[in-house]
Amino acid sequence: MIWIFAKKTLFKRYTHQISITMETLTLTPAECEEETISISSKPIETLTLTPAECEEEVIIVEKNRYAAGKIYKLVCTDGHYYIGSTITALNYRLNNHKQSSKKELNRPVYVYINIIGWDDVEIELVEKYSCKSKEELLKKEDEYIQKGKGDKLCLNFMRAHVTPEESAKRMKEYYEKNKEKILEYHKKYTAENRDNILTYKKEYREKNAEAIADYNKKYVAEHAEEVKERKDKYYEEKKDEILAVNRLYVETHKETVNAYKLKWAKEKYAKLAPAKKAAHDAKTAARVLRDKTSVTCTCGGTYLPHHKNRHAESKKHLKFATA
Ligand SMILES: [Zn+2]
Repeated sequence: MIWIFAKKTLFKRYTHQISITMETLTLTPAECEEETISISSKPIETLTLTPAECEEEVIIVEKNRYAAGKIYKLVCTDGHYYIGSTITALNYRLNNHKQSSKKELNRPVYVYINIIGWDDVEIELVEKYSCKSKEELLKKEDEYIQKGKGDKLCLNFMRAHVTPEESAKRMKEYYEKNKEKILEYHKKYTAENRDNILTYKKEYREKNAEAIADYNKKYVAEHAEEVKERKDKYYEEKKDEILAVNRLYVETHKETVNAYKLKWAKEKYAKLAPAKKAAHDAKTAARVLRDKTSVTCTCGGTYLPHHKNRHAESKKHLKFATA
């Protein structure tokens, strides 16, 4: 027997659960015989869970239903067949199919069987496949479906299991093939639900404002060049429109625009003021220094800059000049 231990939240939707919250649970190696799953990386040989652990982490013990997995075949007397998988008894599954065929009238397999009638259909076991999850079981089922691909007698029109890559590829192919139809539908839907969509978008933006801002900031930081390119391209393409809109706004919102202009000018001044003052102070300091530094004349004498004229008339300089 295989047991699976899981956090309560993951298994909420299951119905057969045994609560072990109040008692210590011990499983012997025999009970864990086919065990493959460990809790909190604790390998399960002998597993003992204390009440505290039970309460905190592991609350539900569930018998693994996929241990009873099986692949079956619905076989019609005329040779048509349908591959499926189940964890229930085969006759129980057959009854399920019969019930479903009354409701899912468009499912290809039922379209066909509803024509020939269930009296000509039998269920057969293909393979017992004990596994651990629905995904595993569906993968196995899909192997059989793939084998019947192209077989005219096979009534499986849907894959049982597709990998995310396959799924993405198929989605893309579907989109390419039905592009026009999809766009048309989208357009129609958007037009008909415009108000609802706008309200929803607005509410969403308000509710997630912070997260959106963070995301945008991060995105722009990581894709700086790309963003700039896109912006430039957009501007180039829509230049006339953008400029016209801007002009119209300026004309119709003069007061607001002027108030903004004033605000920007003040902000710009406040931002630039310290640098301007520093430059001015530096210039003054240089001038003061220059004024204090004596100049050496060709006559060999020295003078301060503002005494240049006085020096030119000094005895020493005149003597040198007339020599
Ligand atoms: Zn001189």
